Amino acid sequence: MNLEQVRNIGISAHIDSGKTTLSERILYYAGRIHRINEVKGDGDGAFMDNMDLERERGITIASAATSLQWKGTHINLIDTPGHVDFTIEVERSLRVLDGAILVLCGVGGVQSQSLTVDRQMKRYHVPRLAFINKLDRTGANYKKVCNDLKVKLKADVVVMQIPIGQETNHQGVIDLVQMKAYYFEGKEGDEIREAEVPAELLDAAKTARQEMLEALAMYSDELMELLLAEEPISEELIHKVTRSACIESNATPVFMGSAFKNKGVQLLLDAVVKYLPTPLDRAIKAKKYDNPEETFPLVPETDKPFVGMAFKIVDDPFGQLTYTRVYQGRIKKGELYFNQRTGKKERFSRLVRMHSDKREEIDAADAGDIIAVMGIDCASGDTFSSEQNYCSLESMYVPDPVIKQAVIPADRANADKLAKALQRFRKEDPTFQVFTDSETNEVIIAGMGQLHLEIYVERIRREYKVDLEVGDPKVSYRESAGKRVNFDHKRKKQTGGSGQYGHIKGYMEPIEDGVEENFIFESKVVQGRIPKEYIPSIEKGFRAIIDKGPLAEFPVVKLRVVIEDGSYHDVDSSDMAFQLTSQECFREYFPQTSPSILEPIMKVTVECPEHFQGAVTGHIISKRGLVVSSETGSDGIARMTFEVPLAELFSYSGELRNMTQGQGSFEMEFAHYGKTPSNIQKDIIEAKKASQLVGAH
Ligand code: GDP
Repeated sequence: MNLEQVRNIGISAHIDSGKTTLSERILYYAGRIHRINEVKGDGDGAFMDNMDLERERGITIASAATSLQWKGTHINLIDTPGHVDFTIEVERSLRVLDGAILVLCGVGGVQSQSLTVDRQMKRYHVPRLAFINKLDRTGANYKKVCNDLKVKLKADVVVMQIPIGQETNHQGVIDLVQMKAYYFEGKEGDEIREAEVPAELLDAAKTARQEMLEALAMYSDELMELLLAEEPISEELIHKVTRSACIESNATPVFMGSAFKNKGVQLLLDAVVKYLPTPLDRAIKAKKYDNPEETFPLVPETDKPFVGMAFKIVDDPFGQLTYTRVYQGRIKKGELYFNQRTGKKERFSRLVRMHSDKREEIDAADAGDIIAVMGIDCASGDTFSSEQNYCSLESMYVPDPVIKQAVIPADRANADKLAKALQRFRKEDPTFQVFTDSETNEVIIAGMGQLHLEIYVERIRREYKVDLEVGDPKVSYRESAGKRVNFDHKRKKQTGGSGQYGHIKGYMEPIEDGVEENFIFESKVVQGRIPKEYIPSIEKGFRAIIDKGPLAEFPVVKLRVVIEDGSYHDVDSSDMAFQLTSQECFREYFPQTSPSILEPIMKVTVECPEHFQGAVTGHIISKRGLVVSSETGSDGIARMTFEVPLAELFSYSGELRNMTQGQGSFEMEFAHYGKTPSNIQKDIIEAKKASQLVGAH
């Protein structure tokens, strides 16, 4: 396979922007599906309905990766899940793709999830094209959307097309590189007609072309000089500069149309081939197995050791299906590969390439490709290699769960089925956690939001036919230090037998904002004051005890512990003695840091008709919320962003419905942890004490 002719791309979008519709059109024009499903146009459905819809339509398109051919190029289309609560899956898919299409609604513009996805794309340096969809809808305005891209995403946009008419008059697009008009005719828009730019749009097209060239000139001296000298600029040069601006400098070329009305999709595919990176353009670094601090580049060559990453796991009637991206070497059917995390060997006896509606058995696949392995056992995110202890791919950023809920199976038989379901979901989704409450013995599930948990409960019921009840959702609080405190703690126990001696000096303090780690341990102990082998024991002691903070037994986060000095005893110091020393030290000194309880604060985006705006905002403020932004579109719809404590949001969906006569919709995602006001902190601590008393009886 020639890697120059491979594209691994994803489509990401705010829900309802038309990602599914666009994917479907792409598969249709590439000849992978033969019929376009008729789902009504426009997008005002509530998102729960949309979930069902996605599930129903999922059969044809929502496989984790689908292969298609476009004009000789092999495109792997990787699904990026629709809802914000599943950001971990989005992150994981962004990790394996080389480029992306960001779909934006021509009316809504840059909405909350586009912002999240944009952050994630930046995190993984994924070059992308934007596609402004739904230009046929009332209120569509591609200029506003381009402006949104500039202002809200700080994107360097290069507008490559302008529409021929918008709203009901939307007929096609003008390609500013060729200065040609394109119309999409025939029943499904599959007959493309090229024509001269309509006279009434000629001036607008010329201006837009000039703007496009000026934007591109920022990335190329050659183009800049031609532009200044007013000399002709070749199409090849424009393509070349656009490609490198997009891949190397994060510029965003913008395309447009209407997926639903079959306009502009084929030109978007041409652009994918022209401008998005090949697997050769993206350097992927792996961490050395024996020294994770050190990284080395993976090379997409077939004679190197095989390295691949399992990025999505799906249960299938025939066993586990593991979607894998090959980063280096060649994956071959029948070979044994090492799971780098567990060290276990697995035989890869069946490899398949997924097409939208069928799977094709293959014997091998090369670096750069995306395929699925059938019947192996592993967790999502695992790295495999032909060599033992070779490398691991950078671990993914996994946010902490913010909400938890008890799940209570009806009886023993249901408990067994439940355990099976939970085991599987946990494997697929690291943000979905399962544990047993040590006080009540209940099984608790924890996740990124109420909807996240609701969806899993629903899947447990539907797919595993488990009869269960759920407890009320509960917020996952945290505890954190308020200020730096120095410590000096000595453990000295010499009652009979061998004694226990440990002594540590240093300080603990809150970790500054912007650092992702929740616990940082540093040792600045100079040679020998505490023998090297005990330093990990000290760390281990702290790690074990910060699970339960002193205020109300919530996990302690954002804590840095620095050990500067200490002492030991030849006979009485041991691993255990130092572990206990740090635990005692924590118990004694952490309360002196003026700790407080933190609560998850959610970013809530509400859309509703303008005249409800005041009521909605007032209601949010009564819930300790803050207004982040608020705007009203030309369509009379107010879009507001708030930050609100999760604890106040459990019945929000019903409240919003009542307040807006069913015309409001909202989304929320975790934003950050924030300090709880002192009266609420007091309530939380008291509630915790009360529950412990109940638990004790
Ligand atoms: P997703 O949530 O991003 O996957 O969005 P869907 O593809 O499910 O589309 C959401 C709704 O918008 C559906 O009712 C689609 O039929 C509709 N839709 C998608 N693309 C367009 C478009 O170009 N124009 C119009 N008018 N509606 C569209």
